[in-house]
Amino acid sequence: ADVAKPCISFAHFGFEEALMEMIRRAGYSEPSGIQRQAMPMALSGRDIIGIAKTGSGKTAAFLLPMIVHIMDQDELEKGDGPIGVVLAPTRELADQIYSEAKRFAKAYALRVAVVYGGASKQDQFKALRAGVEILVATPGRLIDMIKMKATNFRRTSFLVLDEADRVFDLGFEPQVRSICDNIRPDRQTLLFSATFQKRVERLAREVMSDPVRISIGNVGQINSDVTQVIEILKDDSYKWNWLMERLNEFVARDCLHGDMQQHERDKAVHDYKHKVFPTLIATDVAARGLDIKSVRTVVNYDVARDIDSHVHRVGRTGRAGEKGTAYTLITEKDDRFAGELVRNLEEFGQTVDPEVLKIAMQ
Ligand code: ADP
Ligand code: MG
Repeated sequence: ADVAKPCISFAHFGFEEALMEMIRRAGYSEPSGIQRQAMPMALSGRDIIGIAKTGSGKTAAFLLPMIVHIMDQDELEKGDGPIGVVLAPTRELADQIYSEAKRFAKAYALRVAVVYGGASKQDQFKALRAGVEILVATPGRLIDMIKMKATNFRRTSFLVLDEADRVFDLGFEPQVRSICDNIRPDRQTLLFSATFQKRVERLAREVMSDPVRISIGNVGQINSDVTQVIEILKDDSYKWNWLMERLNEFVARDCLHGDMQQHERDKAVHDYKHKVFPTLIATDVAARGLDIKSVRTVVNYDVARDIDSHVHRVGRTGRAGEKGTAYTLITEKDDRFAGELVRNLEEFGQTVDPEVLKIAMQ
């Protein structure tokens, strides 16, 4: 069929010099695996399901083809609604994608906006009314904005679902469907994640047309740049001491969770990205997509609800080839998780701690 060949150099994608300059400024010397494979297909107009480990550069793999797509549109001059829309499951991830989009969109002075819950609707309304080419959004707030007539999908022809399995998770599925139903069916749709359960893939395929599935490495495998340390503790009461003993290593100064006000959440992420604090204590709000280069250690104080969530949590370190360590505290009651972990390690031929196996088998 019409399969575009992978490109091993940024020079081979046919990007204009203005965009190449932004790629150089980002410090990217050569495309990552997912970028080599997915970008030629995306540039040829195909729908894509892209699966690659955490920290492997999936963001640019959809943003660069999106920008080329936008520049190819005849409608570019004729409206104010977004041509490219990116959906993300959390506010912090939306913000991060927004920053990346702005840096590449500078090549053509495209207008980029971000909308998510917990922040002023008025400001977001104004930003959208001023006109955008690229819009990054969490699904719920995007629907609010469409209802408020802050913007519309008339120009939209390129849709991305980042962390697609999470976006499709229970809570977001109806919103995503409604958004998809309101964007013209001949759009190009791209989905990205490091994990993709079959069930979710079936749902996802319903909003795509004849997608190419590109997966780099083993789907669901923990990034091998992360050393996994499993600590077996007798029960939860030992966890606190375990952590306290390591406080000098992981000085705890800041936190991020869903009960905080949005401005507190923004400040926590900002402070952490700017290394004001050496340690971030976070719930699963931070598990997906956040790219904070200084993260060297992840501690799973309580185990994740399933192995996919675990893969994403652990993936907050070991980004873009850097090394990291992930500690996971396991107690006897974590038999279900231990079982999933054992299956994951065995599937990818990694050594399984006999103590973990014992908990899994009990
Ligand atoms: P993913 O979405 O796959 O988890 P990201 O898109 O967040 O990964 O990228 C992880 C990090 O790698 C980011 O800091 C990003 O700027 C960087 N990166 C992306 N592509 C390249 C590249 N081709 N060369 C070097 N660094 C890159
Ligand atoms: Mg990502």
